[in-house]
Amino acid sequence: MELDRFATHVDIESMLQLIKASPTPAPPAAVVNVQGVRRDSNTARRCLIDNCNYGSLRQVPNSVKVQLLSYYYFYVPNHACICQWHLIHMAIEEIPENIINQMTDLNAESVGDIINLYTQALEQRSNFNVDDVSDEGAFGLEETEPHSTIC
Ligand SMILES: [Zn+2]
Repeated sequence: MELDRFATHVDIESMLQLIKASPTPAPPAAVVNVQGVRRDSNTARRCLIDNCNYGSLRQVPNSVKVQLLSYYYFYVPNHACICQWHLIHMAIEEIPENIINQMTDLNAESVGDIINLYTQALEQRSNFNVDDVSDEGAFGLEETEPHSTIC
């Protein structure tokens, strides 16, 4: 009887040592792919438009992000930036066409950011009017968001 108890004790100790020696790896971050949705990389180091070397980077206005996602299934991550030149001169529909390296994975941060984008759009809806978008550039919107944040 005493011997059995000792054996059980040893087994538990062995198991505890094994567990400590080989900790369970952290589960990989959940990634989702939403059919048809693509995204840019989440970097503030450069303009999101390919081969653009202009400085003067700014955050992409929220209303532009919402239109890109709603109408072109293109998600601009929260750290992505655009240069002043493209902000003024490029039409919204041209933005996805000028980004070659598009990804399809979204993670929990992306989903949270998307919820925030639409929440802000709802709160600013008196200023958010897709009819304001001029043909000359995406940023007839500039009037509604004149002070987009510098990256
Ligand atoms: Zn640019």
